[in-house]
Amino acid sequence: MSNNKYKVLLVEDEASIRDFVQTIMESNSYQVLSAETGAQGHLLFLSHQPDLVILDLGLPDMDGLDFIRLVRKSSPVPIVILSARTQEWDKVSALDLGANDYITKPFGTSELLARVRVALRSSRGGVDSLPGGKFTLAGLVIDYEKRMVTLSGAEIRLTQTEYNILAVLAQHAGKMMTYSAIVQAVWGGSDPGSVKKLQVNMANIRKKMGSRPGESRYIVNELGVGYRMRGEEE
Ligand code: CA
Repeated sequence: MSNNKYKVLLVEDEASIRDFVQTIMESNSYQVLSAETGAQGHLLFLSHQPDLVILDLGLPDMDGLDFIRLVRKSSPVPIVILSARTQEWDKVSALDLGANDYITKPFGTSELLARVRVALRSSRGGVDSLPGGKFTLAGLVIDYEKRMVTLSGAEIRLTQTEYNILAVLAQHAGKMMTYSAIVQAVWGGSDPGSVKKLQVNMANIRKKMGSRPGESRYIVNELGVGYRMRGEEE
């Protein structure tokens, strides 16, 4: 087991959070490389090729967004953001630059571990989300071949657009997708009304799936950011 550990690079300048995350990760059989600055983190990244990066956006020597750009030049490694910021813009930018997900501080042990597992699994192309196969999650089944969605065995009748939105989210299960990323995937471009169009469709999908507003059994709505289909492990 010990030589089979996932290697996690943690880039965080705040000692208390760094220690907290490192302790949790190590006691759950992850190997942790930790860095206090972006420059240090980048060196560790290049020399160790970690399986996952946990990244604070507010670093002393560089913007976390620039760190994502650096990493994405050469690697698809999953990146989970630790965000203390309340501005949606930073989260959206981080996701659009290729981060997989973010966790808002303060966060707990189980949330951190769940996000890490989901990010690692989605980077391996989770078996439940292979196009051409089926996506399943707690009674929800999306049959990509038949373009059919069932909930507890009963078919949910969706429009083409609604189906496409749901399929895109399912194929990226566990990953927070920004409004613009979903719009791009479903409509192939965006116009000023796209986000509104997406939100209207999403409201219909949730209604057809029997979710009440605010409920998020399958799809998590981060206001001002985007949507995330839950991962199997959540
Ligand atoms: Ca910081």
